[in-house]
Amino acid sequence: PVRVRFCPSPTGNPHVGLVRTALFNWAFARHHGGTLVFRIEDTDAARNSEESYRQLLDSMRWLGLDWDEGPEVGGPHGPYRQSERMDVYADVAARLEEAGHAYRCYCTTEELDARREAARAAGRPSGYDGQCRDLTAEQRAAYEAEGRAAIVRFRMPDEAITFTDLVRGELTFTPENVPDYGIVRANGAPLYTLVNPVDDALMEITHVLRGEDLLSSTPRQIALYRALAEIGVGAGTVPEFGHLPYVMGEGNKKLSKRDPQSSLNLYRERGFLPAGLLNYLSLLGWSLAEDRDIFTLDEMVEAFEIGAVNANPARFDLKKCEAINATHLREMPVADFVAACEPWLREPYATWRPEAFDRAAFEELAPLAQTRLTVLSEITQNVDFLFLDEPVLDEASWNKAMKPGAEDLLRTARAKLAEADWNADALKGAVLTAGEEHGLKLGKAQAPVRVAVTGRTVGLPLFESLEVLGRERTLARVDAALK
Ligand code: GLU
Repeated sequence: PVRVRFCPSPTGNPHVGLVRTALFNWAFARHHGGTLVFRIEDTDAARNSEESYRQLLDSMRWLGLDWDEGPEVGGPHGPYRQSERMDVYADVAARLEEAGHAYRCYCTTEELDARREAARAAGRPSGYDGQCRDLTAEQRAAYEAEGRAAIVRFRMPDEAITFTDLVRGELTFTPENVPDYGIVRANGAPLYTLVNPVDDALMEITHVLRGEDLLSSTPRQIALYRALAEIGVGAGTVPEFGHLPYVMGEGNKKLSKRDPQSSLNLYRERGFLPAGLLNYLSLLGWSLAEDRDIFTLDEMVEAFEIGAVNANPARFDLKKCEAINATHLREMPVADFVAACEPWLREPYATWRPEAFDRAAFEELAPLAQTRLTVLSEITQNVDFLFLDEPVLDEASWNKAMKPGAEDLLRTARAKLAEADWNADALKGAVLTAGEEHGLKLGKAQAPVRVAVTGRTVGLPLFESLEVLGRERTLARVDAALK
């Protein structure tokens, strides 16, 4: 059975690269009827925060990416927060050392730096040189007597490591490129290099899907897995690896966590639909079919193949992300659209009195708004005229619409509107004839009406809007504009 994991470190705000990794693991698990393990890699107390942990969980819930084992749901391999598993790592590190797969390294930073420099100057590989690999008991005792602190280092096998990456195909790493590496700090704190593979082994992970930035650690982890299997830690198998392509941002540079467009919270605050955002993020390295950009999560799950992921860097394109979200908004059932908008039309977003929100009035205009939004937050500006006592009049819009002669036109339109039947067709006829009397086409004639009633120069189709707003409020606003 397929068992994959999503194992972020709770540092800072979730970003789109992280969500892409979560999504691909989730889709892979769901496609294969497997298990998604959600693990929190929070062993680095200095960098992790409880707030970030909360945000991670909250983000996953918002996105609808559910997990089968992990925080809040539990499971047979818990606890799923690494900070609660410290005794496990201490035990495994000791056993690795006992079995000769790891050793104490007493080299100081200065010594390591000096030797690295020398190796570089001589054109030799500059990774750890194995100085402490085979210390005798006397040498160790001498170092200890000096009071030197020791880290624990993993002993890499002296042979090449080859594996078939699910995305990149066969890869080989030679020993000189993968030196022995630290797994426990001098103060006893286990490192990512240890805890990540140990938990993958104990949690019986079958497939590791993660970002390309971690590719260089894979040969080290494979060697560690083999050692763990030998000493009887975990399921005894090495998982398969698939490294997801880099995501590039502006100027063809790697999208960075500091990049504003990479912050997940931003998408949430702007009112992206999880379905739209995830649809777009799935395209960062994968596609359902060459000619299809728009699909549901269910369709993704159905079609998702890790072997179809493209190894080439993917380009993050905010415009395309927005366009895909707009399509999802447009294609959802109206009732769902209304429900999705409602939080944006109530506190704390709405600028009107809470009791002014009128669901029935909104429902009438919702189908018109649905085709126009890119993100849900835009709903407010499109329908605020319905719920505010007075329209938001900003000077720029006013001046733009109230060209010379506009006041006369408005006066004529007011008279015709007052007599018209109150439905969109009749209201349109009223403004059309008012325009004709002033030598104005409909587009020009309706601009002052729109700004008088809604406060804006652009918005939903005007006559439908007036119909919903009602005769009394419409005429009162025109009168106010004429004062
Ligand atoms: N905690 C690691 C990270 O966030 C996980 C890496 C992995 O997936 O192996 O980078």
